[in-house]
Parts: sequence; structure tokens; C-alpha cells
Amino acid sequence: MFKNLINGEWVEGARASRNINPSDTRDLVGEYAQADAAQARDAVGAARAAFGSWSHSTPQQRFDVLDAAGTEILARRNELGDLLAREEGKTLPEAIGEVARAGNIFKFFAGEALRAGGEVIPSVRPGVGVEVTREAVGVVGLITPWNFPIAIPAWKLAPALAFGNTVVMKPADLVPGSAWALADILLRAGLPKGVFNLVMGRGSEVGAVLLDDPRVDAISFTGSVGTGQKVAAACLARMAKFQLEMGGKNPFVVLDDADLDVAVNSALNSGFFSTGQRCTASSRVIVTEGIHDRFVAAMVARMKTLTVDDARKKGTDIGPVVDEKQLAQDLEYIAIGQAEGATLAAGGQAMARNADGAPGFYLAPALFTETTAAMRINREEIFGPVLSVLRVRDYDEALATANDTPFGLASGIATTSLKHATHFKRHAQAGMVMVNLPTAGVDYHVPFGGRKGSSYGPREQGRYAAEFYTTVKTAYTQA
Ligand code: NAD
Repeated sequence: MFKNLINGEWVEGARASRNINPSDTRDLVGEYAQADAAQARDAVGAARAAFGSWSHSTPQQRFDVLDAAGTEILARRNELGDLLAREEGKTLPEAIGEVARAGNIFKFFAGEALRAGGEVIPSVRPGVGVEVTREAVGVVGLITPWNFPIAIPAWKLAPALAFGNTVVMKPADLVPGSAWALADILLRAGLPKGVFNLVMGRGSEVGAVLLDDPRVDAISFTGSVGTGQKVAAACLARMAKFQLEMGGKNPFVVLDDADLDVAVNSALNSGFFSTGQRCTASSRVIVTEGIHDRFVAAMVARMKTLTVDDARKKGTDIGPVVDEKQLAQDLEYIAIGQAEGATLAAGGQAMARNADGAPGFYLAPALFTETTAAMRINREEIFGPVLSVLRVRDYDEALATANDTPFGLASGIATTSLKHATHFKRHAQAGMVMVNLPTAGVDYHVPFGGRKGSSYGPREQGRYAAEFYTTVKTAYTQA
């Protein structure tokens, strides 16, 4: 049984949950403790008690812990990647890449602990000095989704700790293994007790404590729009600071002048890899008339070569969907698309077993063509390997269609035109824009986040993470 970490101790849960491998549902990854509300409150109390000394610890102390954690994560990337692929279902190379990303994030924020500084500004009054400094916010509650079981916890935890906050983290119920491994690593990296607390458990119970407990100063949330709205309402009600990263309906534009290979590789990657379960995945490919038929033919041909199989098997391009519920949602949207009159040009069939007969949540990636912007499959987040093609006249219509969505996380374009690439970078209504690259797949040291219905609050990652995890103080001194 893997336990919760509260005040530096491994604590039994009120219940247990079974972590199941979606590539082979007979395989139990492990049993994980589930905290109840009282234990969640204990964790908040521990974080509160630890805040005073951690927020005044030296940058060297924070550097050492984060650097040691990053070193261990990187050294164990294959083993931790195997655990991640086993519990979440992304392929082994993708999972190892995600673990490496987490390790690098810890290294980056170890450095940020040292670099954190302020400004000295002359006052408008004689003899007065003004200092602008950043301080830790306090106890931060982190609520994370299942699709990046180690990278998202890392990109919230590392800056929170680097800037002197203490943390209570609630990972997604489906993937507690990677979060538990992170807690184990941090404890051994020398984090004082109470600075980081892991409470695995239900959102409605453990998550709710983090939202409502007045001792939690800030919440960083990544997940669905529906839960994000609950987080926002609860935080506003008690004036807690919050940050939300939510859904997407990311467009990828393909213009007549695009390099066809670049366009197809980018669309395949960002539409289907990681089983389409990335918030930055492309779900709408907007293609101009002159290249439309060649693009669709090339996509269908390439899709036939993709292997959907056990996430940890060599040669697998696409692993299973994360669980039964998500598979049912994907299949429901595939049925909705057909009922709306879209053409299912390839894929879309569920497979109850893989090539070796193992039971899992397998789905052949689906490509819809002849779709319109008004269809539900082009408006609502599906969060699976389902891609729609929209045919448009020209660049102007492509841009307007790309922006015609309540979301605004990532937006991409395949073009060899400098003019259109430049215009698109300026006019795409998204937090991140990719030119001749998949919409998914980002660097770890630069800002991440979106606009419109995708995000709320300051950006995550890179130096911009300080906006959320610190609060500014302006001090005046009369000499
Ligand atoms: P989810 O909203 O179901 O759950 C996210 C987290 O919130 C989980 O830990 C869950 O237990 C918790 N939670 C649920 N109900 C709660 C409540 N009432 N109070 C407090 N916490 C609660 O999302 P998910 O299914 O785990 O993740 C998929 C979603 O995440 C997709 O919509 C995807 O687009 C989004 N996502 C966004 C980004 C981004 O950066 N924009 C990144 C990854 C995933």
C-alpha cells in the first residue's frame, strides 16, 4: 500500500484505490491510500506550520532540495517512465520524455530560487528609498489532472517550493503512482517535514478541503472546465488566489503552400500521440482548398501505419485511452460526429483487446472529414484521438475558423509563407502559437498557458511562474 505523506510521515488512508494499467486491465499497478477530509485538513495544518521556516529558508537550502530531486528524477527516468506509461497509457518514449521534463523543471526552478531578487527604485520624495521584493504566497494547494502524471505536478510543485511556499498536493485519482514517486523523492531530497504534503483521494472530498480551508492561500488547478469553474467559485468566495489551466479545442491550419510532410507529421503528432489526451492536442485541422484532398489522402495513408497497442511495447505509436469512462466519451463523440453528418474517413473503432489478447481501452485514432465549424465535434473538447478536418477557402477564412472557439490554449499553422506565418502569430487568439510544429510539445523553461476559456490567471512555467507563486511587497525607507 502506497501511503499519503502528511507532515513528513507516511500515513494510512481512510480507504484505498486500485491503480489499474489501461493497457492490460488485469495488471494492478498498486494500491494507493485515499485520504479523507480530516486527513486533508491535517495536511493543510502541517503545511501552515512549516511555512514560517521554509519561507525564510536560504535560497541555497531550496536550491539543494530541488536540484537533488531533479538529479534523482533524471537518473531514474526509464524506471519512472515505465511506471507512468503503465498507469496512464502513453507510450514508453513519451512517458520517459515526460519524466525527463519533470527532472529538468526541478533543475530550472532550483536555479530560480537563487535568481529570485527585487528592484530598488528611487522614491519621488527626497531621502526615501523604495524596494520592491517578492515573497512566498503561503500554503498552496495543487490539484492536478491525470494526463501528465509527473510533469504537471512538477511544474506546479517546483516553483511553489523554489519561492518558499509550502504545499498540499492532490493528484488525479487515476494516476497516483507518479505523484507518490515524486513525494518519495522530495522527502529523501531533504525537504523539511510539512513543507510538501501529498494527499491522494477524491476531488469532491480532498480537493474540496483545499478549496474551502481558509489556511490555504492559493490554488493552482489544471483539469476540466467544469471543475475549474468550481475551483474559481470557491476561491473567489474566500478571496484566495487561484490559477486555472483547463480545456482546449486547438486548431491546426494547413495552407496550400505548406510542406505536406510537415503538415501531416504535425497533425498526426498533435492529434493522435499520447492518445490525443493532451490539453495542447490539435482537434481541428483547418485546410485550404488547394491542398485539402492531398492532405486528407496522406493522413488516411499514414494512419494505416500507426500501431495501437500496449503502451510499454516496442513499436507502439499510440497507447490505450486512460480508462473506460474516457473511452465511452470518445466513442460518444465519434457517434455524434457521424450523426451530425461528418464523414468518418478513418479509424474510430474500439478494440477490447490488443494484439496479444490483453484487455484494455484501445481505440483506433479517428479522422473526420467534411465537418463544419458549428458541429459539436468542432466545439466541445473530446480529449481523445479524434481529429476533424474543416475545408476553407483561404488564409483569412482559416484564421477566422481557428479563432472561432471558446478556447484559446494552443494554435498552429503549416505554411511556407513568411507573411502568413507572421500574421498568424500575431492574430491567433491563443496563449501558444506553433509554426510548422505540432500544437503539442512545448519547452519547459518558457511560459505555458492559454486565453479565453482555456486559462485563468498568470502563466505557468519559466520565469513567469513567479507571478503566481510570489506576492509583491513595496517597502519605503527614510534614510
Ligand atoms: P478533472 O477536472 O476531472 O480533474 C482535475 C483534478 O480536479 C483531479 O485531481 C480531480 O480529482 C480534481 N477535482 C475533481 N472535482 C473536484 C472538486 N469538486 N473540487 C476540487 N477538486 C476536484 O480533469 P481530468 O479529467 O483529470 O483532466 C482532463 C482535463 O484537464 C481536460 O479538460 C484537459 O484539457 C485538462 N488539462 C488542461 C491542461 C492545461 O494546461 N490547460 C493540461 C492538462 C490537462
